[in-house]
Amino acid sequence: MTKRTWTMLLTLSMVFALLLSACTAGAPAPATDAPAADAPAADAPAADAPATDGEAKLVGISMPTQSSSRWISDGENMVKVFEAAGYETNLQFAEDDIPTQLTQIESMVANGADVLVIAAIDGATLTDVLQKAKDSGILVMAYDRLLVNTDNVDYYSTFDNFQVGVLQAQQIVDALDLENAAGPFNIELFGGSPDDTNAYYFYDGAMSILQPFIDSGKLVVQSGQMGMDQVSTLRWDAATAQARMDNLLSAYYGDKRVDAVLSPYDGLSIGILSSLKGVGYGSAEQPMPVVTGQDAEIPSVRSILAGEQYGTIFKDTRELAAVTAQMVDAALKGEEVPINNTTTYDNGVKVVPSYLLVPHSVDISNWEELLIDSGYYTMDQIQ
Ligand code: BGC
Repeated sequence: MTKRTWTMLLTLSMVFALLLSACTAGAPAPATDAPAADAPAADAPAADAPATDGEAKLVGISMPTQSSSRWISDGENMVKVFEAAGYETNLQFAEDDIPTQLTQIESMVANGADVLVIAAIDGATLTDVLQKAKDSGILVMAYDRLLVNTDNVDYYSTFDNFQVGVLQAQQIVDALDLENAAGPFNIELFGGSPDDTNAYYFYDGAMSILQPFIDSGKLVVQSGQMGMDQVSTLRWDAATAQARMDNLLSAYYGDKRVDAVLSPYDGLSIGILSSLKGVGYGSAEQPMPVVTGQDAEIPSVRSILAGEQYGTIFKDTRELAAVTAQMVDAALKGEEVPINNTTTYDNGVKVVPSYLLVPHSVDISNWEELLIDSGYYTMDQIQ
């Protein structure tokens, strides 16, 4: 390992430690309660740069919505970590409205942002403003969700999205003991939003595990609805998923039991669980099917504790904020940018150099260790 790489890793771990120490008190990573003294610029990656002209660089942070707590945490974590590193920030949420996100990013560009960190609502809708950003020399980071059909994205920070789907499917395999049990078991499949490339990686990862069991007849999709064109959920909308689950149950499960539901995101899982409860699942006679999820949102953690949702996937937004800040800082200083994937994320124009973080499978056996002991939540928030 080169000295530079060591320095980068050391700085990253210092930022992460800073972030961890600042977010032990409640929300996954509250941004506003960190006293200035908790943010020693000397420890932060940008403390001795990148303000080459003596002025702090401005980072425009565009998040898709506040309707899901993970994006609030992402936004707050980034404000914390960038400000600790000596940057100024402008955080905006677009409430899942594409024109709102466009307008917010346009004003970030007009107001002199040096960096844009964008988690897009629809990764294909920002090409014009990204061109403007590039023309103004702004560094563009795709955050968690890929920006597609554009040359004007510099780096991508995310989790291993295929692996998220693998872990979700593995929960179903383990819970139903598919390797040993005779079956057959009934399963229904849900996908994420078709305008978010992550949704395809999640689905493909899950199907890489589930398809052999479907092919052998051990898993049966009674509705026959498979493939993202049939199972996707526009805008990751819980009500849409709940309505689809209602329809599936009444059309295909009048005299059958559904044993598993592949759900890619906790918000959808909660809607799916409501639908299942509505027809009597969740009792001793009719136990809940195995329902997966993602993001370790508090309602889903509570649902796991109540024996309803089977599991979720924990993606530590503190790590994502820290690595994003590290990538930005290195890029602005002209140093080697930390990336660990240069092959996977083809956005239709180019393969975007990426940093993939590791997602974790959460269920009743390990939620406390992963979510409480790590300081991501306090016990008070869950109980
Ligand atoms: C994210 C997931 C999230 C989903 C819905 C995806 O792009 O990667 O973590 O569950 O959006 O917000």
